[in-house]
Amino acid sequence: MRGQSVELTGVSMRFGDFTAVAETDVTIRAGEFFSILGPSGCGKTTLLRIVSGFLTPSGGRVAIGGETVNHLSANRRPTAMIFQNLALFPLMKVWENVAFGLEARGVPKAVRRKRADELLELVALTGHADKRPTELSGGQRQRVAIARALAVEPAVLCLDEPLSALDLKLRQHMRTELKAIQRATGVTFIYITHDQGEALAMSDRIAVMHAGRIEQVGPADEVYDRPETPFVATFVGEQNVLSGRITRVADGMAAVATPLGEFLGRNTLGLNEGDAAMLMVRPERMVLDGEARNSFGATLERRDLEGPFVQLVLSAGDQLVSVQMPNVGRAPMAGAMRIGFAPEDAIVMPPDAEAIAT
Ligand code: ATP
Repeated sequence: MRGQSVELTGVSMRFGDFTAVAETDVTIRAGEFFSILGPSGCGKTTLLRIVSGFLTPSGGRVAIGGETVNHLSANRRPTAMIFQNLALFPLMKVWENVAFGLEARGVPKAVRRKRADELLELVALTGHADKRPTELSGGQRQRVAIARALAVEPAVLCLDEPLSALDLKLRQHMRTELKAIQRATGVTFIYITHDQGEALAMSDRIAVMHAGRIEQVGPADEVYDRPETPFVATFVGEQNVLSGRITRVADGMAAVATPLGEFLGRNTLGLNEGDAAMLMVRPERMVLDGEARNSFGATLERRDLEGPFVQLVLSAGDQLVSVQMPNVGRAPMAGAMRIGFAPEDAIVMPPDAEAIAT
């Protein structure tokens, strides 16, 4: 199997006068694990259905492996799709499910069986070939669906929230498995999810989508550390947001006057003195330290244990601030304290109430 690139040029989708996907340009590289991350209704499924040929775009060009495929129906494209509900056939054995697409192509039974066994080995289901899907766990059924999709040797595998029905532990386990299967096969994976943890953990690159538009494309650490829009900054991970106005800009940094004090942050978007702004700091970048360059007084309101982390909620002025620290027994239990953050751990964004609310 070999992955192919997917190139969307000016692709858009309108339903009546509603624009589900605005004009979109994006290139997914051959053999890449590419995630499309965004909230419910932002257009992720629509985009995936356009790639796989289940939906004809209102405009634009779809190319796979450099060839325009707009005119090809789903079953003539080098793509396969795994849906949220998996759609396995309950009365067929596991191996028959896997080989289903091969039977439709007239492949002889012995070859089908051999191919199914190879794929079941790839997804770590050797020994389950003669069971029915109902005799398998949720995670095992998930892997049958993956093996079935890979049986037709797609160049591009489209996965629509395939882990959403699984419990948390299994979901985390399947992330590792999916990534390993993608690496082993070299097939291009396009994975859609509204779960930022999944996207961050698995992807070579992530496209963050909001209201029909891709707002940023990049590797996980880039999207997390250098968000280009307020929506990306707040949708991927948590942020403390301090609103205010910029008082000074210099050397890529900006000072923002907020109700809690004047603080410095990275001015990555090049905002100007006098602009309204939001200063954003991630909970894990907050420190209990009056010595930090940016610091303010706060009172501990709540302390939640989250296994490896302790989440502190503090009140400061009339807002709540969240601080996440490793659970190594040093988290305070109560009281007033100073908390702070380094200027390089804060980013300055234009105000965008809608982005924060979503
Ligand atoms: P979810 O995570 O909930 O599946 P999504 O990001 O995949 O959401 P889409 O299913 O792509 O979102 O839908 C995007 C928007 O387009 C939604 O507002 C949806 O209601 C609308 N939409 C999707 N399909 C149609 C259709 N056939 N006719 C009209 N509107 C549609």
